[in-house]
Amino acid sequence: MDTGPGQGPDELADATARTRYARHLLLPEVGMAGQRRLAAARVLVLGAGGLGSPALLYLAAAGVGTLGIADDDVVELTNLQRQIVHGTGDVGRSKVESAAEAVARVNPGVRVETHPERVTAATADRLVAAYDVVVDGTDNFPTRYAVNDACVRAGVPLVWASVLRFDAQVAVWWAGHGPCLRCVFPHEPAAGDVPSCAEAGVLGALCGTVGSVQAAEALKLVLGIGEPLVGRLLIHDALRARWDTVAVQADPSCAACGLGAGVGAGVDAGVGAGVDGGRAHGAGGLGVREGGIPDGGGEPVATVSVRALAAELRRPHPPVLVDVRPGPERSIVSIPGAVTIDLADFRSGEAFSRPELGGPGTPLVLYCKTGARSEEATRLVVAAGWRYAANLTGGVLAWVREVDPSLATY
Ligand SMILES: [Zn+2]
Repeated sequence: MDTGPGQGPDELADATARTRYARHLLLPEVGMAGQRRLAAARVLVLGAGGLGSPALLYLAAAGVGTLGIADDDVVELTNLQRQIVHGTGDVGRSKVESAAEAVARVNPGVRVETHPERVTAATADRLVAAYDVVVDGTDNFPTRYAVNDACVRAGVPLVWASVLRFDAQVAVWWAGHGPCLRCVFPHEPAAGDVPSCAEAGVLGALCGTVGSVQAAEALKLVLGIGEPLVGRLLIHDALRARWDTVAVQADPSCAACGLGAGVGAGVDAGVGAGVDGGRAHGAGGLGVREGGIPDGGGEPVATVSVRALAAELRRPHPPVLVDVRPGPERSIVSIPGAVTIDLADFRSGEAFSRPELGGPGTPLVLYCKTGARSEEATRLVVAAGWRYAANLTGGVLAWVREVDPSLATY
């Protein structure tokens, strides 16, 4: 079931829409451009429950153009203590239908795509690849790990949270930009090891707090503003009213996003090569960790295909694209948005202090005409400490051929 007309990019031409979003338009970080970005965004909320409820309401109110809602449950009386998209009259109804109605009440301009199905390892790839950002409001470990693995493969950021009793944790897992769930929690708890909310209880208002944090993180990711919870785990203790963050790091040996990762039985052979692998969003975003990070000369460097790069460049927080060719070649054709640092500067080491390269945690994609010179530059920048650098397979000529044939070639 799909509902709502969706919002085209011209939606803000309407004075009523500008009035609706006036408090956003006042924010310099949002403004008209950001509001249009929200209208064009596709966000998937997994679980229309305690976390999904506030997340859905705020994402709808914010004007996210398309909201996916996945849940196979029906509303039960015990849900109403915290699952605020559902009301007493909804008991016994499908959660996705009830949630879609709630979204329509808040903002009828939002297009809703309902997925009344259980999210499993078999279905997660298909669901996740169709969206820009995923908000995980599910409450069981097999689903969370399946969703994480699918997001790693699709290169989609995952706004994750966990709540129990009075405690919560929130993070944005985003392989290639920071750790994934398995980097930080490598072992999926066995059934029964960790009590569920159904067994141990949860403060209803804590779900509201945490689902709202997830909505804010998803909006930041769509808008490309601020510092998302990438590489940080937010820990909230509602009883003591304490908030802390701890730094978390990508694990090179991670089973999902590390070197030579297989991600269980669901691995796509294309991922390892850093090529598209037939996935809509390109394999694992940058394909960086999957492609392998060389630890010395002669080892293959990580690679990314032009199609995967094109998808990455349309996302919030794209990688820094570096053109390593000399000026005369660049004047013929270049990929829009690239910064320019000659291969000679990588060889001399001068490149590594250039502000355009950011720091060792900055994701980089390097290119030249066909890929040979940028492979050398990629090797050098990785040796200098950059953790997420990939060589663009086929170089600018592949870009012209496969992404934008209107550009000049040589
Ligand atoms: Zn990982």
